[in-house]
Amino acid sequence: MSTADLITATPRGLHCGAGDFYIDPWQPVERAVITHAHGDHLRAGSARYHLAARGAAVARQRLPAGANIQSLDYGETIEFGSTRVSLHPAGHILGSAQVRIERDGEIWVVSGDYKRDPDPTCDPFEIVACDVFISEATFALPAYRWTPAGQVAREIVEWWRANREHGAASVLFAYALGKAQRILAELAAVGDGAVQDAVFVHGALVGLVEAYRAQGVAMLPTLPASQSKAGSYAGALILAPPSAAGSPWMRRFGEHRTGFCSGWMRVRGDRRRRGYDRGFVLSDHADWPSLLSTFRDTGARRILLTHGYTDAMCRYLAEQGVDASALRTEYGAEE
Ligand SMILES: [Zn+2]
Ligand SMILES: [Zn+2]
Repeated sequence: MSTADLITATPRGLHCGAGDFYIDPWQPVERAVITHAHGDHLRAGSARYHLAARGAAVARQRLPAGANIQSLDYGETIEFGSTRVSLHPAGHILGSAQVRIERDGEIWVVSGDYKRDPDPTCDPFEIVACDVFISEATFALPAYRWTPAGQVAREIVEWWRANREHGAASVLFAYALGKAQRILAELAAVGDGAVQDAVFVHGALVGLVEAYRAQGVAMLPTLPASQSKAGSYAGALILAPPSAAGSPWMRRFGEHRTGFCSGWMRVRGDRRRRGYDRGFVLSDHADWPSLLSTFRDTGARRILLTHGYTDAMCRYLAEQGVDASALRTEYGAEE
């Protein structure tokens, strides 16, 4: 068995020399294996993209027309050079995948972004046994522990109802891909379908919500926010990407309250600094306990960390006697 690392961090991205491919490269390459369609992982310009079939429609919306996309079912194996490669659910957003690479009996897994909490919009994270696990560390501090999503959804409904009683609209900001659809799905599940109101969505969300519906994800009904007259939003819930906050687009809503839905809302000071009326803690990343349990569950003898609080996690793992180090990558900004 070769002792060379199967995956290395290069100036273009995470590279597998034995298979001559890159994973989520940040510069254009010949062959890119993609974990998911967020902007820091899926970038335009590569000659060929290999990604999970469940995420292909979403990826097409995020890449230029005519991009060469080859989709793989979860668990299907493809051979690149001397490696066998397969994709496995990561539980992060619809179609998100971990990449399993095998060569000469040695197995490496690149997680991409992932979470362990249940999410009605995507396939649950699959434990893939491996020798080396390459993980994200976005929320790798002990303070990050998530509240169950169903509880967060009930808090959102209460906030929306209270604003409605005051005749105000509720504008909730969330990442356009993944988080917005998860909110719509979690709201549809509150009280076994007690909430059935249509939700207005910003134009940046319309195509992505349709792509999720086409994959069979059940969500609250939606209406494009652009098509209603100013003044007709009193009491409504509007979903929009963070980039719309404070923009002229907001004027149509009249009296309104704002909220932001993100794992970052766990930290109180962050909530104030961002200037939203209300923060809801809902993340599509693994929290501290589930990062640690995932490392154990994979049985990996070595952990490599790509982005987030990599130093804090490396220190902690080293104290536990785990072989851990950080890779230099350009992942991080979700959208
Ligand atoms: Zn992501
Ligand atoms: Zn990411």
